[in-house]
Amino acid sequence: TYYHRPGSDTGSSSSISTATIPEPSKSLNDRVGLIRGDITTLQLDAIVNAANRSLLGGGGVDGAIHRAAGPELYDECRALGGCPTGSAKITGGYGLPARKVIHAVGPIYDPLDHDKSEQLLTGCYTRSLELAVEHGCRTIAFSAISTGVYGYPSQDAAPAALGAIRRFLEGPDGDKLDKVVIVTFEMKDVEAYNEFIPLYFPPV
Ligand code: ADP
Repeated sequence: TYYHRPGSDTGSSSSISTATIPEPSKSLNDRVGLIRGDITTLQLDAIVNAANRSLLGGGGVDGAIHRAAGPELYDECRALGGCPTGSAKITGGYGLPARKVIHAVGPIYDPLDHDKSEQLLTGCYTRSLELAVEHGCRTIAFSAISTGVYGYPSQDAAPAALGAIRRFLEGPDGDKLDKVVIVTFEMKDVEAYNEFIPLYFPPV
């Protein structure tokens, strides 16, 4: 199920106006989507985990991915020796239908330093997209990184994520990706993405 509903009836407000987002050079709308569901069930080239710096698993989507992938994922992650916040590392998918798992480490949201939080969140989306292309992945699903226990407001995380995805798709390696989807359980994320996808990826 894709949610490409233009506009939003959620009544949520945002400081970001359409005027601040430049018109894209070409329509990328058909290459970006939103799925409300369980990321562990998706048969794509890569799924992106909302990991922590240890890469050794945790709660939320991280726990779900490790449970579904099995102990071999833990063993490969342990050999990676962790990952800095704002970056990502890639492993196999093991028991998952996805071929690869990209473990992105988002920031714990710091309301006193929004710019730093945004830079780190954007960084892990960009690095994940680079890793996907480096490993020949053409389809990729992102968790709503940092919007769970890491506390990043969905209304701020969605435009940051979509900005990074759009920059990548418009960049030199953008054509190497066929599909980028965001996957979430949470209605607050669905509402934020329904609001911002038509702004960052307007349909033609
Ligand atoms: P973080 O620590 O980066 O905030 P969380 O795992 O707490 O990560 O939350 C990230 C997002 O993933 C939240 O929106 C959460 O509801 C969602 N989530 C949890 N489990 C799943 C799942 N199996 N598939 C997709 N999204 C999930």
